[in-house]
Amino acid sequence: MTTPVVPGRGPLRPLGLNEVRLTGGHWGERQAVNAANTIGHCLHWLEQLGWIDNFTRAATGAPFERAGREFSDSEVYKLAEAMAWEIGRTGDPGLEARFAELTAIIGAAQEEDGYLNTMFGHPGQRPRYSELEWGHELYCYGHLLQAGVARLRCYGEDGFTRLCRRAADHVCDVFGPGGAEKVCGHAEIEVGLAEFARATGETRYLEQARLFIERRGTRTLGDGGFGRAYYQDDVPVREAEVLRGHAVRALYLSAGAVDVAVDTGDDALLEAVRRQWDRTLARRTHLTGGMGSRYIDEAFGPDFALPPDRAYSESCAGVAAVMTAWRLMLATGDLGYSDLIERVAWNVLSGAAAPDGRSFFYANPLHVRTADPLPPGDGALPHQAAGGQRAPWYDVSCCPTNLARTFAQFAVYLATADETGVQLHQYAPASVDTVVGGSRFALTMVTSYPDDGAVVVRVEANDGGERTVSLRIPAWAEGASVTGPDGTTTEVEAGSTAAVTADFGPGDEIRLHLPVTARWTVPDPRIDAVRGCAAVERGPVVLCAESIDLPGGADVAELTVDASVPPVERDGRVFVSAQVHDRDGDWPYGPATPDGEGKSAEVALIPFRRRATRGPASMRVWLPLG
Ligand SMILES: [Zn+2]
Repeated sequence: MTTPVVPGRGPLRPLGLNEVRLTGGHWGERQAVNAANTIGHCLHWLEQLGWIDNFTRAATGAPFERAGREFSDSEVYKLAEAMAWEIGRTGDPGLEARFAELTAIIGAAQEEDGYLNTMFGHPGQRPRYSELEWGHELYCYGHLLQAGVARLRCYGEDGFTRLCRRAADHVCDVFGPGGAEKVCGHAEIEVGLAEFARATGETRYLEQARLFIERRGTRTLGDGGFGRAYYQDDVPVREAEVLRGHAVRALYLSAGAVDVAVDTGDDALLEAVRRQWDRTLARRTHLTGGMGSRYIDEAFGPDFALPPDRAYSESCAGVAAVMTAWRLMLATGDLGYSDLIERVAWNVLSGAAAPDGRSFFYANPLHVRTADPLPPGDGALPHQAAGGQRAPWYDVSCCPTNLARTFAQFAVYLATADETGVQLHQYAPASVDTVVGGSRFALTMVTSYPDDGAVVVRVEANDGGERTVSLRIPAWAEGASVTGPDGTTTEVEAGSTAAVTADFGPGDEIRLHLPVTARWTVPDPRIDAVRGCAAVERGPVVLCAESIDLPGGADVAELTVDASVPPVERDGRVFVSAQVHDRDGDWPYGPATPDGEGKSAEVALIPFRRRATRGPASMRVWLPLG
């Protein structure tokens, strides 16, 4: 099945790229740009910087000066995964030829015993597995195995999947029962092994994933500088109460823990991840769905520590949050988990890549104080957290390839099936053509959501009898309604699942109406950093103000808004009533008196994902109430 996650048990069946297809709209375009530009762009940078050549040079057996950071091999693997999904989706022969070239290059660097890493174990390098805290060797295998899953499911067994098997066997040999009782400083091998076990049927890989999950939190790693919570080695997964430490590590670990819990029947472990996820959403997640609020260690902060200007919200944490939410959804059948996927997809993932797919945000703060220029075009790689502009590549460049693999597989997050029907999780122009209860059931979705809230689901084929189409009603969608094929309209509750059951025939339609209008959102007052502010959301889309849209070139720092006046929509744009101030003073504190009138203005807001596409600008999502 051409899909990244196929649990051993669960109430819902994921669909493959051959069953769900984007047929246009925002996500169809995202996927097309990813295929046309992003994959080639990443390949170019990996070649130019020598991160692919590392494999060729390691294969010679002679000492060599290695390019890139300790985890750069994983960028090659994530790009291979993006290519594998894309080949599965389109059969692109040019991409297939490049995939074969990569396979030969990577395979040449693999040792006799299956070891594969260009940073350790070669002449002049440090010994294998001598630095598990920071070495990322097992992390790199995790991404290799996820690429192997994509290749197995989209193509079948080949040279690439065989080298993946040798690497997985090697990991089991070294770290399995009787072997080194260690974990990697960066979780990822767990989720890679667990899915590779599903794709190959080799239960040894699942058992190894389980061992890594159980070992985490037993202090097999050193302090490492940031403390053991940084890599979740402070508390065992099943005992933790909340996600903490490095956000991407915590989320990859959670995704792997769900896989292990599901396939080993470990309901206590599954419940532990659900508990941590719920609390993380309630207390440690930005309005955009972004996770992580500390720059120093790319980490979750304490509960409610969510400063908008220091919202790290790494693009990879967005990818990892989708991975975890999707697995929890498949494990439980609760479509509510797809709410977070929608929020992250629209606000973090789509905005992290430029419209042309050739530059990327690494950090995605909700407030940028300075109108930063574009990064220099002299080939110098910016620091990953620097500035308010997207860059073509970074010194630590985990995000571009992570986005590429996610956009290539994005269609699978739209729908699932079970023995009675199809569940729709995301609304986009798409076709679903699958088998329900042994017979064909095909639908198309026609919509310009979230520009407007009308979604038409048309039945194209139903070779069975009675079927149920279930629709996720987002938590923000107060006043949503569903009209069935018999013309009956029913109000549906926000945050619920609407089910329409009928003996559908071709041409029958279900009409979903979601109330997509701009609305003010205020934060829980425990989030000190944005107390006294409000933001505007429109459906799942978070909006922001950019200085470009302020009168007289004012800075966003000078803006206050009146949230007693609803946002106005006109010509496809959203406006809010605001005051633009011109403050000056020697001391920015004083008595609690009104700070005087500014100039009244109607200020246009734009979707957060479209920030920094019109030149340098300061930007903010949370707007101070006047
Ligand atoms: Zn990243």
